[in-house]
Formats: sequence, C-alpha cells, structure tokens
Amino acid sequence: MEDKRDLLKQPLHGIYIPIALMIVGTLMLDVSYMPYTIAFIVIMCSINFYSAWSRRCSIDPVKWTELEMIDRTVISKNSAIYRFQLKHQDEVLDIPTGHHLACVFMVDGKDEVRYYSPISNKYDAGFFDILVKSYPNGKVSSRFPNLREGQTVKFRGPVGRLEYKTNMAKEIGLIAGGSGITPILQVITEVITTPADTTKISLIYANNTLNDILLRDEIDELSKNYPNFKVHYTLTEPPANWEGSTGFVSKEMITKYLPKPSEENRLFICGPPEMKKSLIEISQELGWDKTSMKSDPNDQVFCF
Ligand SMILES: Cc1cc2nc3c(=O)[nH]c(=O)nc-3n(C[C@H](O)[C@H](O)[C@H](O)COP(=O)(O)OP(=O)(O)OC[C@H]3O[C@@H](n4cnc5c(N)ncnc54)[C@H](O)[C@@H]3O)c2cc1C
Repeated sequence: MEDKRDLLKQPLHGIYIPIALMIVGTLMLDVSYMPYTIAFIVIMCSINFYSAWSRRCSIDPVKWTELEMIDRTVISKNSAIYRFQLKHQDEVLDIPTGHHLACVFMVDGKDEVRYYSPISNKYDAGFFDILVKSYPNGKVSSRFPNLREGQTVKFRGPVGRLEYKTNMAKEIGLIAGGSGITPILQVITEVITTPADTTKISLIYANNTLNDILLRDEIDELSKNYPNFKVHYTLTEPPANWEGSTGFVSKEMITKYLPKPSEENRLFICGPPEMKKSLIEISQELGWDKTSMKSDPNDQVFCF
C-alpha cells in the first residue's frame, strides 16, 4: 500500500522531470527564452505548493474546522464508529501515533471540548474514523448518536503528548479501559504496520461486560496474525463461561500478562481517571518509575 502522507510531504512530486526538460529544451532552442521558462516554472511550482498545502490542512491545531459526517457504523448498544470527510480526496489524517482530535459542541450555551482518537489508519485517504462510546448523561458523547449524515462537527488537532518512535522500547505493556482502547489501538497499528518495528506488545483490555468490549474481533484478529502482539481481557461482570480474568486490572494480572519493569520496557495506560489513578499506584508498587496523570512523553509509564 502506498503511504499517501509521504506523497503530500513532497509538493514538487512529479514535476522535477518536466522542469528539467523545459530547461534543456530552452537551452537547445534559444537561451533568450530562459526568463519566460523560469517564470513559467515558478508559476507551476507555486500552484503545486498551494495544492499540496491545501490538501494537508483540513484540520488545524488551533482553528476549529467543520467536517461533515458521512457514515456511521453501530458496533454495540452505546458505541459507534463515525466517519468524517476530509476536504480533499487524497488527504490522509497525518497525526502522530497516540495523538487525538479535539471536538467541540455547544451545550447549554457553553462550548464543551472533548477528545477522540482516530482509529482509521495512515493509508485511509479522504476521511477519518472515530469510535465514540456514548454515555446517556454525557454532554458531548450523547450528541453523536443524533448526528445525521451531512451534518458537521467542529474539530481541531492533533493534540497529545506521546512521542512514539520505532523500537523506542523492547517491550510495551498496554492497559486500556473501555473507550480508552482507541489511542492504544493506534500504538498497536503503528507497531504492526511498521516492518522495522520489532517491539513486543501485550495488552490488558478491561471492561464491565462482554458486550462492552470494543472491536474485539479486530483485536483478536491482530493478535492471531502478529506474533509480537498478545491480548488478555478482564471483565468486572463476566458471563458464566468466561475464560479471561475477572475484576479490575490487578497487580497479579500485570505481572502475569505484561512485560517486567525495565529500562528497555514501557507501560502505556488509557482509561477512566479512577482506573488511571489506581494503575499508577500499582505500577509503582511493581517497580515501574513514578508517573502522573499528565505524564511526560519520555516517562517509562505513560498515561494518555
Ligand atoms: C486523550 C483522550 C482520548 C480519548 N479518546 C476517546 C475515544 O476515542 N472515544 C471515546 O469514546 N472517548 C474518548 N475519550 C473520552 C472523551 O473525550 C469524553 O471524555 C467522553 O466521550 C465523555 O464525554 P461526555 O461529554 O459525553 O461526558 P461528560 O459530560 O464529561 O461526563 C458525564 C458522565 O459520563 C460518564 N463518563 C464520561 N467519561 C467516561 C469514561 N471515560 N469512562 C466511564 N464513564 C465516563 C461519567 O458517568 C460522567 O459522570 C478520550 C479522552 C481522552 C482524554
């Protein structure tokens, strides 16, 4: 698959040869035409630069941009994947791994900003997907199920602190709770779609019930196909024949299913605030470095 992000980073892509031919042609024909040739080349380059620039800027880090919702796929009783159209067909959402988009809704006369991590990959051109779990009393998430195709939502971004680099760790332990799976999924996708990345990744994914597990088929498929990726599930309200763990993520689960604390290894956590707080304490007891809810990009334990 072609990574269109690289194409967009080369605004002069495809015009080197025509420029060389024009210069050689002018030299052969009549050097006195050279100023016209150069003027023509400058105009051509400007047009190419402008069109490459405009293809790249659907979403700005500071300014809100309205983007149209073009599709919705319901994946559980309270979660759905929403597809938004980028401004150009060729454009890909070029955001760093583990970063997210901010979106804003006006609620009771006040702007409410929330963050969502795109789950589409770096090869998807012309659109991006976000997975939103809606809470009945949630100010913003409860608005998504009412969106109709063609309606717009304001986005800005990317926002985020993680600075993922290929092979930055030997092994990475991942812990996700509920919709906290979305930035974690970006890390998994980045590792397994980068052939040079040999990082071993292990995930503990915590939910309340079996139906709450988001994208389980996709996650299991990845784990089946990529030997460097393992997943383990835990539920607080498991069904009778449940083979995973039961309860909140515990010290024992982390010891059994995730890498050991070491200078070469990292731990990434994403979930509700209470879960993050408890896991920061547990990870310290297990010997991981001290961290906080607002981790630094280079912290051994990183909370999204
Ligand atoms: C970095 C980051 C990335 C995120 N990515 C995603 C994503 O990809 N998909 C997604 O669905 N959400 C994601 N979230 C959460 C999202 O930003 C909102 O916080 C969430 O949608 C709830 O917002 P709300 O306005 O509906 O709820 P609020 O009005 O803020 O809260 C209302 C009530 O909803 C419940 N609630 C809210 N958030 C949670 C939670 N996380 N867990 C359990 N109960 C909760 C609580 O009962 C709360 O009292 C992310 C958050 C962060 C910080």
